[in-house]
Parts: sequence; C-alpha cells; structure tokens
Amino acid sequence: MKKKYGILAYPAGHSLSPVMHNAGFKKLGIDAEYVLFERKPEELAAFVTEVRSEGIAGFSVSIPHKESIIAYLDQIDDDAFNIGAVNTVVNRDGVLHGYNTDWIGSNQALSEGFINLGQDGEMKGKIAVVLGAGGSARAVAYGLLKEGVHVWIKNRNKAKADAIAIEFAELFKTEIHSVPLDDMGTGDILVNTTSAWLNYELSEELPVGGVFDYCDPVYLKAYQLVMDLIYKPFNTPLIDAAAEANIECVTGENMLLYQGVKQFELWTGEKAPVEVMRGALEKAL
Ligand code: NAP
Repeated sequence: MKKKYGILAYPAGHSLSPVMHNAGFKKLGIDAEYVLFERKPEELAAFVTEVRSEGIAGFSVSIPHKESIIAYLDQIDDDAFNIGAVNTVVNRDGVLHGYNTDWIGSNQALSEGFINLGQDGEMKGKIAVVLGAGGSARAVAYGLLKEGVHVWIKNRNKAKADAIAIEFAELFKTEIHSVPLDDMGTGDILVNTTSAWLNYELSEELPVGGVFDYCDPVYLKAYQLVMDLIYKPFNTPLIDAAAEANIECVTGENMLLYQGVKQFELWTGEKAPVEVMRGALEKAL
C-alpha cells in the first residue's frame, strides 16, 4: 500500500519539501507520496488523531507547530528535547517518535562551506555569531555547540538571546554569550536565522539597524563564511552582500536539503539519493 508522508505547517503552500521528498521516493522506487498537511494551530489535535487512524507514515513539522507538536508525541529523541522543537515525526506501528534534523542540516551545510574554502570541513574551535533567537536559532546554535564551535547569539529581543545563552551554556558546560545590540560581533561564521527579509519588499531600500546592518560588506569582512536560512528570496540581501565582499556563502536551500536527507533516511531506512533531491530543489527554486 502506498505510504503517505507530508509537511505539517500553516501556511504550507510555499514548501519545497514535497518536490524534494517525492523526487527521492521516485528515484528509489519507493511506493510513497509526500503531500501538504496545512493545519492551523487549533487543528493540531485532530491532525494527530488523523495520523494515527489513517496510518500516515511520517511527517515534517514546520512553523507554527514545531514546539506544540511535542505534547502529542509518544517519544522524543534527546536532541529534539534539548532544542525544544521537533521537525520530523516517524510513525512506527502507531508509536509517534519526534526528532529534530534542522541542526544536522545546518552543520552539514556549514561544513560543506568550509570544504569549498579548501578546508577539511571540521568546525571545532571556530567562532560563530548566530542572528535570531527563535526555534531555528536554537537548532543552529545547538548543532554548532555539538561540533565544539564557540557560539555567540544576537537577537533584537536581547532577553531571548540571553535565555538561550544561559540554557545552552549549562547544557554544554561551556561559555556562550549574547551579543549586545550595538555590537556587530566577529568570528569565522555568521548565520542569519531571523525572518527579517520576509517582512519587506526586496525592491525597497534596506532599513538601517539590526540584521540589516550586516548587509554592509564592511562588517561582513570580519567573517569567513555566511549562511542565511531563508531561501526565498534565493539571494537574500545578506547573501548578496557577502558575495560582493567575496565571502563564502551558504544559501538556505543547502540546510533545507540536508535536514530533508536525514528525514528521508529516518522514514525509509534507506540512504537518501542526495543529488536527486538537490536537483529537484534547485529546479523548483
Ligand atoms: P521564529 O521562531 O519565529 O523566530 C524568528 C526570529 O526572527 C526571532 O529571533 C525574531 O526576533 C527574528 N526577527 C523577525 N523579524 C525580524 C526583523 N525584522 N529584524 C530582526 N529580527 C527579526 O522562526 P524560526 O522557526 O526560527 O524560523 C526563522 C526562519 O528560518 C523562517 O523563515 C524559516 O522558514 C527559516 N528556516 C529555514 C530552514 C532551512 O532549512 N533553510 C530551517 C528552519 C527554518 P524577535 O525574537 O526579536 O522577535
């Protein structure tokens, strides 16, 4: 019987996950389909009932359900628990298991960026500044800390950055700092996890202040590698500025790909056809 997977999100229409996963299923000859599960927060309980009654084999979880889904799951792995968010659910004989693959996708994408710079991809000992303090900032910071990277966190609501720094410092038994708002920070890696670009028209002049100041190549020169989690627009103002400053850029679809590759492997138990999934994503973009 055809297995059913999908993405739980609201809204879900913009998601590129269906093209990526369906291309993977097709390549491996797996009888499965990946669809959109567009559900509002108040529809979450009914959706989980549907997953159990219809035997939906697994699903990705995106905004705004990554934290709230946890209460409905039977088991959650340690990394997802520590991050406080689930982006992947596997239904194993009616038992719902929650995972987080965002941190894996982020680490893989960043590591490849260093390989492109002629390095070995090892990130231990490097310094990273993570912009944002939402769910994806937690996943990115967590992944970097697992690799032994020194992490600084900066967010316009500084109290949220402070809270993550305190929590993860305790968890990893290391020092983590939040960056003052008037400080641009410095390091090897700069990652934008904020959704700042989504809230204004690309044709407009860039506002001044906060994340937008990083779009000045003068400030970006302090970094070796810049990643932006946003992949629509494909070249965010930050990626444009980094490219202009000749800094290695990692665009958001790379993290999307590798978090999806891990999801695919959790669901199917098969090695994911990475290049086919990458090709499907690039075509859709
Ligand atoms: P979230 O929990 O809502 O957090 C959003 C963050 O953006 C907060 O830190 C918020 O700051 C900040 N922010 C929003 N507008 C801003 C602005 N104009 N200026 C400065 N900061 C601003 O969202 P999330 O789950 O972390 O996701 C963030 C983005 O990453 C989303 O667009 C998502 O699609 C993308 N994402 C991509 C991937 C991938 O694979 N490429 C994976 C996960 C997420 P405050 O705390 O001050 O409000």
